[in-house]
Amino acid sequence: MALPRLATREQLVAVLRKAGVRDERVLEAIRRVPREAFIPERLRPWACDNIALPIGDQQTISQPYVVACMIEALHLAGTEHVLEIGTGSGYGAAVAAEMAGDVVTIEILASLAKAAAPRLKELAPNVTVIQGDGSLGWPEFAPYDAIIITANSPTLPRPVLRQLTNHGRLVAPIGSLKEQQLVVVERSETRFTTRDLGPVRFVPLIGAGGFQLLDPARRN
Ligand code: SAH
Repeated sequence: MALPRLATREQLVAVLRKAGVRDERVLEAIRRVPREAFIPERLRPWACDNIALPIGDQQTISQPYVVACMIEALHLAGTEHVLEIGTGSGYGAAVAAEMAGDVVTIEILASLAKAAAPRLKELAPNVTVIQGDGSLGWPEFAPYDAIIITANSPTLPRPVLRQLTNHGRLVAPIGSLKEQQLVVVERSETRFTTRDLGPVRFVPLIGAGGFQLLDPARRN
């Protein structure tokens, strides 16, 4: 059954190209990562549709277009040390891993971290999955050349920005629970430069630096 799936991923790439994704290396990464391996079996017929899908625990695998835009905004050359906050299914980490040296990805919900870890071990061995609260970054492996936050953060988190290398880039949805903007930040010797990429919709970032929404009992 490999052939029809490959053809469908090719169609997804065509849809993303039409939607404005220009970086051929990002499109190649999307072409290579089997999105169907990151979603519940019953949703597999929709694996290569350009839509977000539920993955359990009220979380979603992001829309491929949004994953592509976020990774494109990081200008990865292939050698970078990357932090992703919000593993979810692991799909975004796998796509980033195709274009980076290695990816450290943090997931706060144990069930999702447990499901993503073996999947990524097989499909993207340069990804390390950690279960924990990434809302203040992950200082242990800092600094990072690039940081992706895949959940909506109420503010541009200073502790996370400080974990960027000089000339490092961060991409994140920032806003209220109602309205969010995708923001890209570049660090230079003297300052952080911020640019808006447009409105988006993500699940909320929870934890110490995020929205205070979750029953703490569910964190372990
Ligand atoms: N990129 C993912 C989509 C992630 S959805 C994919 O491709 O599937 C956002 C994820 O962020 C959710 O799984 C949510 O549980 C997680 N999350 C929310 N707050 C977090 C925090 N403080 N630390 C780590 N992960 C968090």
